[in-house]
Amino acid sequence: MSTRNIAFAPPDITEREIEAVTQVLRSGWITTGPRVKEFEKEIARYCGADRAVCLNSATAGLELTLRLLSIGPGDEVITTPLTFAASANVILHTGARAVFADVTPGGFHIDPRSIEKKITTRTKAVIAVDYGGMNCDYPSIRAVLEQKKSLYRPKKLTHQTAFDRPVIISDAAHAFGASLNGIKSGALADFTVFSFHAVKNLTTAEGGAITWSAPGGLDNEVVYKEFMLLALHGQNKDALAKFKGGGWKYEILLPGYKCNMTDMAAALGLVQLARYDSEILPARRAITEAYDKAFQQNSNVRVPPFHAQGHGISHHLYPLRLSVPDEGKRDSLISYLAGEGIAANVHFIPVTLHPAYTRLGYRIKDCPNALNTYLSEISLPVHSRMDADDARYIAGLVMSF
Ligand SMILES: *Cc1c(COP(=O)(O)O)cnc(C)c1O
Repeated sequence: MSTRNIAFAPPDITEREIEAVTQVLRSGWITTGPRVKEFEKEIARYCGADRAVCLNSATAGLELTLRLLSIGPGDEVITTPLTFAASANVILHTGARAVFADVTPGGFHIDPRSIEKKITTRTKAVIAVDYGGMNCDYPSIRAVLEQKKSLYRPKKLTHQTAFDRPVIISDAAHAFGASLNGIKSGALADFTVFSFHAVKNLTTAEGGAITWSAPGGLDNEVVYKEFMLLALHGQNKDALAKFKGGGWKYEILLPGYKCNMTDMAAALGLVQLARYDSEILPARRAITEAYDKAFQQNSNVRVPPFHAQGHGISHHLYPLRLSVPDEGKRDSLISYLAGEGIAANVHFIPVTLHPAYTRLGYRIKDCPNALNTYLSEISLPVHSRMDADDARYIAGLVMSF
């Protein structure tokens, strides 16, 4: 066997994307404009959501959702430690307290029973993370929040009052195209946030989007306008409207942020979306299937729980676990693969293990399941620039190790 170099998550860019971005560059309008509006419509349509707004990252999408809901000091937001820091950092930005619920025993997703124990009269929202491209158990999360809704204390004169329980926010950075019981990611939670970062399934280099469908009965158009204000310094006109002859005058209605998407990014995203179900997703699925088959008979490893009833998976990661958590062995395996030209990874170092969080008093021992999963997990390459034969080759190396 000759050696192969296989990257972890290279972008899948074809001549079609290059042509679409070039067209925007030649058009005379490169920032937020017609391509972004078109991308928003297509994202909402794809997900089965009423509306979508495009931004420059998922991080911005998560934070703007918390800001839209006026979440801040004195409030608590429940999330999982088994995620990228973005999911928790945005909570701290608002001045609210991040509360970590554990993942399911031996699993990857936030445990509704752990959420139940963490709900207080300060709880305003839950940020659930669709780890690896598999949706969280949203029906159970909703049931737990409904069951404890007598504890919910919405702040007066804010959008919190539209809800009678804490708001469910899906961090679907991994889950574009995933589904649960036939409902697509984007329509499973009150608000869903996608990432189009370079390593994600569908990329715009940097980018993100929020989707929603009359959450809590809120007017879709009102939500859209408020997200637009928050995303562009609270200006009552976007750049395109100001740029038109005579359209110079504007008002700043609130001290907003600056996180809009460019038309160059949206043009890239529109082509990625057009290729998503026909090319990108099937290619990723084939890799997962090849890994699953190769590891089938091996009792030293556990394959991902992607065959669970009702789940459609977007195959963002292939999180293999050692049957017995063993950090040393896991780390040696990653080094061994690196020596063979294969880039593996770990998802995730729990947020509460990082200095920024231990300094605030958070302790990983409060989430023992997340720690166990972390110590046993290794993410193998899965992307549309490799094929099933590459996956079999990598699985062979893992088993020889
Ligand atoms: C990548 C990622 C994010 C952040 O996405 P950006 O678009 O880079 O802001 C948030 N949550 C999870 C789980 C991620 O993997």
